[in-house]
Amino acid sequence: MARRRFVLFLVALSCFAGSLKASPGDADPVYRGCVEECEKTGCVGEKCFQHCTFSSDGNPIDGPWYLQEPLYIQWKQWDCLSDCRYHCMLSREEEKHKLGYQPVKYHGKWPFKRIYGIQEPVSVALSALNLAVQFHGWVSFFILVHYKLPFRPNKKTYYEYTGLWNIYAVFAMNAWFWSAVFHSRDVDLTEKLDYSSAVALLGFSLILAIIRAFNVRLEAARVMVAAPLIAFVTTHILYLNFYQLDYGLNIKVCVAMGIIQMVIWAVWAGITRHPARWKLWVVVLGGGLAMLLEIYDFPPYKGLVDAHALWHATTIPLTYLWWSFARDDSEFRTNALIKKTK
Ligand SMILES: [Zn+2]
Repeated sequence: MARRRFVLFLVALSCFAGSLKASPGDADPVYRGCVEECEKTGCVGEKCFQHCTFSSDGNPIDGPWYLQEPLYIQWKQWDCLSDCRYHCMLSREEEKHKLGYQPVKYHGKWPFKRIYGIQEPVSVALSALNLAVQFHGWVSFFILVHYKLPFRPNKKTYYEYTGLWNIYAVFAMNAWFWSAVFHSRDVDLTEKLDYSSAVALLGFSLILAIIRAFNVRLEAARVMVAAPLIAFVTTHILYLNFYQLDYGLNIKVCVAMGIIQMVIWAVWAGITRHPARWKLWVVVLGGGLAMLLEIYDFPPYKGLVDAHALWHATTIPLTYLWWSFARDDSEFRTNALIKKTK
């Protein structure tokens, strides 16, 4: 009796665990049979690969430890199961494509074609471009405030938000770096680093939005804005990494922080007489439209370009405009402050 109960418990547990990342693709019995077969034979149809029977340098996998796979290959989790899943998915999708079926998701992901072992090459390239645009934007801002615009008598910039934009640049470049890593190889660690960096960036850009739009200039007031938000974002990141990677909760937190800052910028752009307010409008509207791409998730075209990749493409021109707003703002504030002192 006790044993039967234990078995039932295991079945219930496996159903629950399966439901977390189960998709129509991996529920398909043909796909399941293929993976099972492949793990025994190391082959899918005509295509055979080394990970199931031999390690990458041709040594048998059950040989002594010094002949087994190097640690970095184990780290990347390029193992038999992931190879089998990938090649079974490709062959199953090809079969279904010939019969006129649309692609379906496997283990929570669209069927992407790898290029040089990179899982989502288009998203990786676009993340790298985003990183480059962020870097260019930040450098141009830095040169403007630190080398072109006049300083105060105490050698500090007139612009009161220089430090905030500099920290924002670090968060943004960090987030795009980990996004590129995650899209090239999706394992537990890279996923957590990508999610955590994105949450940290969203949290900091919310702080920036509040402090800039409400003209919070006093150090004490800035701390009062930032401290609770930093505490909240830190708790959320710790929760995701060390307690549970709850996708639903994370989406809610990110959407909430994203919408609040969009509303703040939009309302401010509506009431301010800032000369570059139209740039805020474009970024807010563009960002809102781009969000639709994340909601209307469509399968990858030719196994390469999906909605998420297009979303990463839209952020490139928006980032360019965003830093151009930061530069305009620094000039606008500096001129206003110099006029005041005269
Ligand atoms: Zn992404």
